Amino acid sequence: MKYKIIPVTPFQQNCNLIWCDKTNKAAIVDPGGDVDRIIAEVEKHGVDVEKVLLTHGHIDHVGGATELAQRLNVPIIGPHKDDQFLLDDLADQSRMFQFKPCDTFVPAQYLNDGDVVTVGDLSLQVCHCPGHTPGHVVFFEPLTKTAWVGDVLFKGSIGRTDFPQSSHPALIDSITKKLWPLGGEVEFIPGHGPSSTFAQERRSNPFVADQLFG
Ligand SMILES: [Zn+2]
Ligand SMILES: [Zn+2]
Repeated sequence: MKYKIIPVTPFQQNCNLIWCDKTNKAAIVDPGGDVDRIIAEVEKHGVDVEKVLLTHGHIDHVGGATELAQRLNVPIIGPHKDDQFLLDDLADQSRMFQFKPCDTFVPAQYLNDGDVVTVGDLSLQVCHCPGHTPGHVVFFEPLTKTAWVGDVLFKGSIGRTDFPQSSHPALIDSITKKLWPLGGEVEFIPGHGPSSTFAQERRSNPFVADQLFG
């Protein structure tokens, strides 16, 4: 498994190109925008993109999804159906955050907790992690113990819960009951900012460190 972080949009959202180094098949996670830059990375690495994966319905994560899916002729998969209300609202989100006008869309497939998404020979496990948004999902690659967690968890912080249908208690449950059991050694790539490990966050994250729940 290999991946490349591609920061996109004025929000410096971590779009990711993930690929199987045996088959050269790839997926793009959260193409928020800057589609030309994403396609340049695809060409640079010479990989064959099979699908676009979405963690949740916020525009900085999905703003380039339809354009990218059309240009590469691949399906959009995810998030969980509980985020469809955000995808239905993309025209408003694009105005509000001054993004390129963005049409609403329905993904080819919604994702549920326990689903497995393949990328070549790789299998990514899907964890439904509501809280930041109700339909947020996380992708976990168990062999390398790598997780793409969107806006659930950050190095030293957690996702905002001041949006419509956000829930702080649900977010805390998602982190402590869905993510921590995957293992302290898991390295995660958040939707914004630097990577970290679950063990590091359990030690020092001011919102979800173990000592807060003792
Ligand atoms: Zn978000
Ligand atoms: Zn975000």
